[in-house]
Amino acid sequence: MYAEVIVDISHTQVDRVFEYRIPSEMEIRPGMRVKVPFGKMKDTEGIVIGIKEISDYEPDKIREIIEPLESFCALTEEQIHLAEFIQKKYNTTLAMALRFMLPAQVRGGRISAKTQRMARLILKGQELEQAERALLKKDGRPRSPKQMEVLTFLKHNGQMALRELNTSAVHALEKKGILEIVRAEIARLPFEKSVPRTRDYELTEKQKQILEAIRNGKQKRFLLHGVTGSGKTEIYIRVMRDCIAKGKTAILLVPEISLTPQTYLFLKQRFDEEIAVFHSGLSAGERFDEWMKVKRGKAKIVLGARSAIFAPLDDLGAVIIDEEHETSYKADNYPKYTAHEIAEERCRLSGALLILGSATPQIETYYKACRGEYELLKMPNRLFGLQLPAVEIVDMCGELKKGNRTAISGRLYEELEHTLSQKKQAMLFLNRRGYSTFVMCRSCGYVVKCGSCDVTMTYHKTQDILKCHYCGRTKVPETVCPICGKPHLKYFGTGTQQIEEQVRQMFPQARVLRMDLDTMTTKGAHLELFEDFAAHKADILIGTQMITKGFDFKNVTLSAVLAADTMLNIPDYRSAERTFCHITQIAGRAGRKEPGTVILQTYNPKHYAIQYAKYHDYEGFYREEIAMREMAQLPPFSTYVQIQFSGEREEQVVEAVKDFIRRLKAVLLPHKRGIISIRASEAAIKRIKDMERYHILIHLKNDEDLIGQIYQLFQKTRYGNVLTGIDINPVNMA
Ligand code: ADP
Ligand code: ZN
Repeated sequence: MYAEVIVDISHTQVDRVFEYRIPSEMEIRPGMRVKVPFGKMKDTEGIVIGIKEISDYEPDKIREIIEPLESFCALTEEQIHLAEFIQKKYNTTLAMALRFMLPAQVRGGRISAKTQRMARLILKGQELEQAERALLKKDGRPRSPKQMEVLTFLKHNGQMALRELNTSAVHALEKKGILEIVRAEIARLPFEKSVPRTRDYELTEKQKQILEAIRNGKQKRFLLHGVTGSGKTEIYIRVMRDCIAKGKTAILLVPEISLTPQTYLFLKQRFDEEIAVFHSGLSAGERFDEWMKVKRGKAKIVLGARSAIFAPLDDLGAVIIDEEHETSYKADNYPKYTAHEIAEERCRLSGALLILGSATPQIETYYKACRGEYELLKMPNRLFGLQLPAVEIVDMCGELKKGNRTAISGRLYEELEHTLSQKKQAMLFLNRRGYSTFVMCRSCGYVVKCGSCDVTMTYHKTQDILKCHYCGRTKVPETVCPICGKPHLKYFGTGTQQIEEQVRQMFPQARVLRMDLDTMTTKGAHLELFEDFAAHKADILIGTQMITKGFDFKNVTLSAVLAADTMLNIPDYRSAERTFCHITQIAGRAGRKEPGTVILQTYNPKHYAIQYAKYHDYEGFYREEIAMREMAQLPPFSTYVQIQFSGEREEQVVEAVKDFIRRLKAVLLPHKRGIISIRASEAAIKRIKDMERYHILIHLKNDEDLIGQIYQLFQKTRYGNVLTGIDINPVNMA
């Protein structure tokens, strides 16, 4: 028998499968990690991706597997298929694809868990009682209180870490044959909080109906379009319960790392089963432990951000993608896969259910549902007859005329006052952190920019410093303009820090919290802040988009978007969609228990995205948007392929772009009709971290074949000092 092996997946650039003979006494299965000789190296690590009886090579040229690295398969067959799918779909190497399936700590060594010395009771029942009596003096008091304490601990817990116990007492008890010291594996728990178990809700009629539709669906792929607060999460829980009951497993994907702690604690309240957590915020050790937990079959439910879609589960019963519209489901490194695409393939391979849930599905997803690729399930109402909050649009042009120079309109001020007087809570949303977003000289127009990036620097008042939000470079603010020498440097553009200051000045008695990247620097910060706000330790929460995601605060009756049009001005075909989506999500945070109000401050009150959001009318928005996209030949009716070039020397980057265009034209020539446009240009932010950036944007009709050809050309074209990347319908078009 012969094994097909990918060698050294952490380093290899070559995409080749090597064959090795399996010694007759050795048991090797696909997915196992093995030690093999390779080139001049005596042994290196390989992964078996297939077994065959006849080799394509001459017998004397074939080398033998030295030994398996573990007795179990590090990868499941399904994962191997998935890697092959990724290899083809994103035209990448199999080794690269396999890396998604194995955490880095698992590669390049033997799999071993963290161990710790533990004291464990040997004696049981009567023997234990006897030994215990022997520890007592005649008067019933212990001879050694320390030893008695250790014994009592162990009677409760069975075993305990040595370092938590009195060592000399432990050794004394060991000598007496009462306990033994062993090395045991311990799991590094990402979240140690314990939570009380709560019972399942009685499902509402609507929830029952949806659950039945999922159980009986022929399609096995669903789009659950439910307004905020319609009870989608409860559906997810029941679907996962179904999986467990059938001996299957499930994956629940959530968009943000920061969202995972809440969701984890919430799931723990509802499941007796162990839950594994996968996301990039975990430490290396934690990630390894979570992976092992799944590998051993200890955890049947996996919760995590996009990479959790690769979790090594067997018998997958369902994949649920919550808030499926979130852009974080697309990878930001190459290959730029989306969790949706991987999930679809994985569900196809395993026969698992795929459920995409959102109050504001992506236009592309909804379009697919309308065409029957997903079964569309609708939950148009909030639970228990609760109304969606009333949305009021405030035209900010009027505010300027009234002489209001703050970012808080008169109407919002009134509503905040009212909310505070009712002892309720409010959330204010602004998509810019810092104090002032740029500094400009009023005399000559000079703007302070980062030395390494082509972006303005943001003023952070708390530290009295200018910061670049792209590379982190900082600078002490100047008092006179370095160009014209006049003392006319002024601060413009309001960020969250300034809002906080304004709100504190307006409402000195209110307790204000701010939540943005600057206040979220430590690991537990998010959960802490979340809990503080939930416990009403603050009245007003100010934040960037972080605060729009999935929060369910019962006491929030007011939420406000301070600048609803910032996203409208971004040159991207999805700017209206994103505006609608953000507003709807923010509106969804208010009035989750009693009627709420939403205030939208904007300079574009008539824009259709804002108007439809006012009436919570997703379908209306969808109809208008999809008609426009069809007319303008925008995705999903076409595709954008973006090729990025970056390098330290601009002329080299430009040369590479020119060269690629020449090659591209040769490839695309026979397909002229399929091409809508090709454009090469500087990136909107031309320089980041001292790298000059250019793009080629190819807009073409939907044609998998043609896209494949572009991918192939990309793959085989390399430029020494210029880095390149390829992306389909990039999240950021600029
Ligand atoms: P969505 O995810 O659609 O925004 P959630 O699932 O968060 O909505 O539900 C909103 C709130 O209602 C949550 O606090 C949830 O625990 C609660 N809830 C959901 N279903 C029920 C039910 N059947 N009975 C009582 N409360 C429920
Ligand atoms: Zn910078």
